[in-house]
Amino acid sequence: MYPQIIINLNKLAYNTNTLVSKCRNNGINSIFGVIKVLAGDLKSINTVVNSGISHIADSRIENLKLVENYPLPKVLLRLPMLSIVSDVVKYADISLNSELKIIKKLNEEAKLQNKIHKIILMFDLGDLREGIWYDSNYLIIVKEILELKNISLIGIGTNLTCYGGVIPTKDNLNDLLSIKKSIEKEFNINLDIISGGNTSSLHLIFNDLLPKGINNLRLGEGIFLGRETAFENNIDDLYQDVFELNAEIIEYKEKPSLPRGEIGVDAFGNKPEFIDKGIIKRAIVAIGKQDVYHSNIEPIDKDIEIIGSSSDHLLIDVTKCNYKLGDIVKFKMSYGGLLQLMTSNYVKKVHITDIV
Ligand SMILES: *Cc1c(COP(=O)(O)O)cnc(C)c1O
Repeated sequence: MYPQIIINLNKLAYNTNTLVSKCRNNGINSIFGVIKVLAGDLKSINTVVNSGISHIADSRIENLKLVENYPLPKVLLRLPMLSIVSDVVKYADISLNSELKIIKKLNEEAKLQNKIHKIILMFDLGDLREGIWYDSNYLIIVKEILELKNISLIGIGTNLTCYGGVIPTKDNLNDLLSIKKSIEKEFNINLDIISGGNTSSLHLIFNDLLPKGINNLRLGEGIFLGRETAFENNIDDLYQDVFELNAEIIEYKEKPSLPRGEIGVDAFGNKPEFIDKGIIKRAIVAIGKQDVYHSNIEPIDKDIEIIGSSSDHLLIDVTKCNYKLGDIVKFKMSYGGLLQLMTSNYVKKVHITDIV
């Protein structure tokens, strides 16, 4: 059955183990394995869970429910919705938070469930997604949190690069460490987890620039695609091909490269643009925008060019290659593409365990 995404579990285990040891050798003593991109695929999740991570982390409570019985602590990455606090307390041991109102609600819910819910307080160092602004008067908030009997403040964290593209540096992570020091001093407490970001913080480890005191990272893309995301380099000795998309050719014809007739808008409301290359060999591959945006995938055969796509059809120029009807075309993908492909119910997940 096609389309399918082939997941090499041995390569996945290797990437996870290797990255975890690199982190542990650099003062990172807890690593959240961020599995949201797997969209609940249990075989892949098992592999990551058994490869050295300390916590299972996901943005969606649905995915944490699936791993309820796994032996590692679970972390909810996306700030909790007020409407799901009871599930958050039930299925997550730890959640990332930035809103006092929600933390108070979690406290009430934890009391009802007879639990202590752990939180990591998020600080915005400039990327402008979640978090308390770094130089605001956060001590007032911390004071209120510490008064909540069923909430345990176990650490602080930050998220960078995801929205504003702000790169983690020695300087901005030192700001996080200053926040840690001022909280610990003011309230005479210890914060166990100082979470210095996601895959985009790895470059600091590789270049020996990670400030001492950052002791946690939350890693997704680095594990799955073997890339760091601050400068978009491949990570030495990791696999970049844990995942491969295979899809099937359902039409193969020689046709012009320019459409015939008056041009309006395409199926997605965009005005398409064309380059005249004369008659070309065009193939239609059975995958489309309902599964993945074509800008998020890249044919492994360098001679193939993607022309465009609609909901269920991907058009490729195969003039320079030898394909026929029914052939399988292979693609690699970006992190966004992987997320879409894993989320699509129409893409079959095939697990292989080739010896690495
Ligand atoms: C997705 C996510 C991560 C992991 O990011 P990667 O770039 O995949 O390493 C870490 N933290 C939060 C809050 C996230 O939402």
